[in-house]
Amino acid sequence: MNIKPVDRIIKTIKVTEGAGVTVYRSIGTPALRNFDPFIMLDYFGSDVPDDYIAGFPDHPHRGFNTFTYMLDGNMLHQDSMGNRGNLTAGGAQWMKAGSGVIHSEMPKQAEGLMHGFQLWINLPAQAKMTEPSYQEFSADAFSIIETDGQRVKVLLGEYQNSRGPIIDPYTHVHYLDVHLDAGVHFEHNLSSELSSFIYLFEGSAQIADTHIDQHNFVTLGDGEHISLTASQEGARFILVAGRPIGEPIVQHGPFVMNTQAEIHRAIEDYQNGKLVQQKPAMVTA
Ligand code: MN
Repeated sequence: MNIKPVDRIIKTIKVTEGAGVTVYRSIGTPALRNFDPFIMLDYFGSDVPDDYIAGFPDHPHRGFNTFTYMLDGNMLHQDSMGNRGNLTAGGAQWMKAGSGVIHSEMPKQAEGLMHGFQLWINLPAQAKMTEPSYQEFSADAFSIIETDGQRVKVLLGEYQNSRGPIIDPYTHVHYLDVHLDAGVHFEHNLSSELSSFIYLFEGSAQIADTHIDQHNFVTLGDGEHISLTASQEGARFILVAGRPIGEPIVQHGPFVMNTQAEIHRAIEDYQNGKLVQQKPAMVTA
């Protein structure tokens, strides 16, 4: 079985998002515009309130999914579907923007560590204009598989005999948070057909014959098998893989569609207040 080599190491770019939040972007930068089916990956991690306190006030999305994983901190999510959610340490949210949603994500803390990832996962043309939805999970919704010196949290997709709470029907995204003690070896089978990447956020490691350091984002090349060994300081990383959609991608900020005409339509709909069709009130029997 072929071992996946490191294909590219992408330097993250510091970006100011929302009303002034510092994030470190890897997918969605000039070096890696997108990585089908992934559109963007932002890492945020700071205990300096100025880096996050301004939050992400109301802003729109159309045409894809967002998945936010909180490692530390506390954010309040509110959206135009009427959802109000509290995102806490170890928890996550999956939002299908579909035909359109306006939401805000604001810190519920004035100090302390805010730490996590936001990943944008594309939708195929057939699903871009479908109804938006929002799902939120606290830390206890996810399985953790512990073996000698390894701790694997299954956020999305499947790992060994565990399933995350969401199996995306279009891209089958796998998303694992892997924590390895010093010198521990990690192996995992992952089909060559999937786009796969690792973001290492603690320690350092060796993947096949490449050394990777803290805050390296790496895409993995052809092969069916991941083989990674933690250094003497240990390692913690997210391992994410998904099936490419294979359609044209036209992105304009928070809108990700297939054609320029659809982008114009998204901007127009947003400006005219038509981006979000409020759902009729639920009828309870
Ligand atoms: Mn957003």
